Amino acid sequence: MQELHDAPLAPLTTFRLGGPATRLITAGTDAEVIDAVRAADDTGTPLLVIGGGSNLVIGDKGFEGTALRIATRGFELDGTRLELAAGEVWTDAVARTVAAGLAGIECLAGIPGSAGATPIQNVGAYGQEVSATITDVVAYDRATRATVTLTNEECAFSYRHSRFKAEPERYVVLRVRFQLEDADGLSAPVKYAETARVLGVEPGDRVPLARARETVLALRAGKGMVLDPEDHDTWSAGSFFTNPILTEEQFAAFHACVREHLGEGTEPPAYPAGEGHTKTSAAWLIDKAGFTKGYGSGPVRISTKHTLALTNRGEATTADLLALAREVVAGVHDTFGITLVNEPVTVGVSLDD
Ligand SMILES: Cc1cc2nc3c(=O)[nH]c(=O)nc-3n(C[C@H](O)[C@H](O)[C@H](O)COP(=O)(O)OP(=O)(O)OC[C@H]3O[C@@H](n4cnc5c(N)ncnc54)[C@H](O)[C@@H]3O)c2cc1C
Repeated sequence: MQELHDAPLAPLTTFRLGGPATRLITAGTDAEVIDAVRAADDTGTPLLVIGGGSNLVIGDKGFEGTALRIATRGFELDGTRLELAAGEVWTDAVARTVAAGLAGIECLAGIPGSAGATPIQNVGAYGQEVSATITDVVAYDRATRATVTLTNEECAFSYRHSRFKAEPERYVVLRVRFQLEDADGLSAPVKYAETARVLGVEPGDRVPLARARETVLALRAGKGMVLDPEDHDTWSAGSFFTNPILTEEQFAAFHACVREHLGEGTEPPAYPAGEGHTKTSAAWLIDKAGFTKGYGSGPVRISTKHTLALTNRGEATTADLLALAREVVAGVHDTFGITLVNEPVTVGVSLDD
């Protein structure tokens, strides 16, 4: 266990933004994680759990309390069952499952961050979400001060959401267990239309695992969605806003706005999202509201490769980031009547301030 005081947090985030933490503890074992959490709770010290820092917006004033960096390691494969320690690097774990010939998380290649954070927002991309393969999550429960095992159902997964996000102060994830599939070296059925098109197959077909992973990585790289320290388009938290899910009534009002602003013939993206709900595309809304790729003149701009990513061009502060985020939210709201919601977790700041 390593302990630092007045430690800068910006280098621990993919945005490279945020002030220092009063104390920064790096824990390499589950016991060290639990000790650090208990010590903070015993003294009423605020706690911030950090994995890879790829979904965090930390305020410029930093964090008054204990920042706990999870650096545990563990990749255990037993047949088609996989157990990952929370601190495992997610994209490396995906590569290892593909090399082992197992399907289920190959399309989640290239997503930065730690395995332990994947259940928090039910990480997903290119037609896969971790909720489809997670069997259970071992976590330290700060309310009962005990280690618990939550089944997939108990994790209450939904689109970019879970029980862990609903109760953000309660659980510290220690281990995540997955049920993968041995499909003779083939991927899970390809669900995402863009991936299927690039692979030259029909949605629902399977392809060699390595090809699925490499195709996703190439698509992601083209959108600045694979970390590259040299490329400011990747100094981000990935998608900054979630795709809005609208009721029938809300969708009808939105549709009317679209016709008014963009003409009668324009149809907004619309995907089924459960009984009576439709999901639309945040990237489309942002673009059509006038915030196109590369938008901005300051140190934070929209990525030149993807409308949904806000990026630090090098000299930014979190205040700069929030200013652009608020401008986008207001512009989309004025145009389409929809309020975008940020995907990354904010610490000490809020878009609503
Ligand atoms: C370039 C880029 C592309 C991205 N693409 C995608 C994508 O395609 N799909 C997607 O879903 N996300 C994507 N993301 C977002 C991000 O990578 C994921 O949300 C990732 O799971 C965050 O992991 P992390 O370890 O970095 O979490 P952090 O940023 O460190 O933390 C995020 C939240 O999880 C909490 N947390 C972290 N670890 C634990 C733990 N062990 N126990 C309890 N709480 C914990 C933190 O306290 C915080 O609230 C992208 C980000 C970037 C920068």
